[in-house]
Amino acid sequence: MTLKIAICGGGISGLSLALVLKKFMAPSKLSVDLYEAEPTFTEIGAGITVWHRTRSVFASLGLQAALENRALSPPMTLRKSDTKEPFVFGALVTPHGCIALPRVDLVQLLVESLQIDPMPFLTIHFSKKLVSYDQAADGVTLHFADGSSSRSDVLVGADGIGSSTRRTMYADLAERVAQNDPAKADSILQSAQPTWTGTYTYRTLLDREKLETVSPQNVMLGGGYLWCGSGKHVVSYPVSSTLINILFFDSIPGGLGKPLPGPSVVAASKDEVVELYKDWEEDLRVVAENIGNVSKWAIRHIRSLPQYADGRVVLIGDSAHAMSTHKGAGAGQAIDDSYVLGRILAHPKVTTENVAEAFKVYDAIRRPVASEALECSLRTGFLYEFHPDYLPTGTDVEKLHAGDRGELKNVADELQDMSYIHWAELPGREWERALDMLEERL
Ligand SMILES: Cc1cc2nc3c(=O)[nH]c(=O)nc-3n(C[C@H](O)[C@H](O)[C@H](O)COP(=O)(O)OP(=O)(O)OC[C@H]3O[C@@H](n4cnc5c(N)ncnc54)[C@H](O)[C@@H]3O)c2cc1C
Repeated sequence: MTLKIAICGGGISGLSLALVLKKFMAPSKLSVDLYEAEPTFTEIGAGITVWHRTRSVFASLGLQAALENRALSPPMTLRKSDTKEPFVFGALVTPHGCIALPRVDLVQLLVESLQIDPMPFLTIHFSKKLVSYDQAADGVTLHFADGSSSRSDVLVGADGIGSSTRRTMYADLAERVAQNDPAKADSILQSAQPTWTGTYTYRTLLDREKLETVSPQNVMLGGGYLWCGSGKHVVSYPVSSTLINILFFDSIPGGLGKPLPGPSVVAASKDEVVELYKDWEEDLRVVAENIGNVSKWAIRHIRSLPQYADGRVVLIGDSAHAMSTHKGAGAGQAIDDSYVLGRILAHPKVTTENVAEAFKVYDAIRRPVASEALECSLRTGFLYEFHPDYLPTGTDVEKLHAGDRGELKNVADELQDMSYIHWAELPGREWERALDMLEERL
């Protein structure tokens, strides 16, 4: 019997899920409607890093070669840069490598891969913004901003950090306990709110040729760099033969968990960046002088959502666990979610009657992994900035800031140790664990 699946959101997680379903679901079981709020798939965004875990998903979809053709693999070098006498203090070793590419290329690759064959199983609906849904014992009714509605067996919320799916799910969960336990209802609602990490990032793509002209010896031309220093850091790496992805971070002391003062994304000028980094190393100052307009993003996250599924509704990607940008965590975890959830939905024993139980398996497998990735990503950013609360135990902070090689090596080692999440357990193994649980429960 056909399982009618509604995917809300055509970003990286929604598109990846459609691809996984196409690959693994029996055609007779497949019926997918993808609803995207925008009139087209959004192809904006800067660079995205894809690690070994996520590359293994592309390999299982037969897309490894197509992905690697568009990407570069920059090694990442750590510099102490908040000084006029900068130096290298380590490099992050990635046993299986990682690749970087512009977000637009990744979205295009996913869209092209879906469209290579005719897609009788998939209907894409643009300009369909989900506002809310109602869930009954036998299905879900989706309500859209244009006043229309539609019915499906399940709803997958792939609608990003501002997810309407998550908002509706958590309003429902809170309502169920509100009468007996208003405090619990309140805490359920709070847990679904994005909170601020205390960090802003100024994002831009710099034309490599321009930098070669104005600063031919600039360090940034030599590969991927993590420019570290007190309270701020910069990440730069090439994402194509012509473009360098640059993120200038600025953390506000005590900002983690505080309400965000102002909008989450605003246009900014290069002058702000020049001012922020005026006392840092010369090469970085030259880069700041030569960037075009930048956008300033407040980095928010959804920390510790208590559940990713409720009945026939499930969350993937940023809607479940938006996280800070380090180590390609957000996009990678979104694709990994899609892989595990897609394989679960494609399992022959999963039907419209037992799909809620199958979603509990997805939650049990993916939530701990994504939560760990979120914490690792947050910690990584603060370590690049020598944040006192995140430094290795016993660090002599004064010596560290003065550039002591031993103290800096400890920071580099800590960063290296945390990289294990990218190869410790692959999504294929997570799927095997999910399969064992499905066999037991269904
Ligand atoms: C415009 C944009 C630019 C980005 N740029 C970068 C970048 O440069 N580097 C980086 O590392 N990460 C970037 N990200 C974030 C990164 O893509 C995500 O962290 C990650 O890929 C998770 O993807 P997602 O599909 O879960 O969420 P998203 O990528 O946020 O996709 C969500 C999709 O859902 C759609 N949507 C939202 N609300 C609704 C609704 N109510 N109904 C229907 N559809 C809805 C959105 O239009 C979007 O297409 C960007 C995200 C966006 C949307």
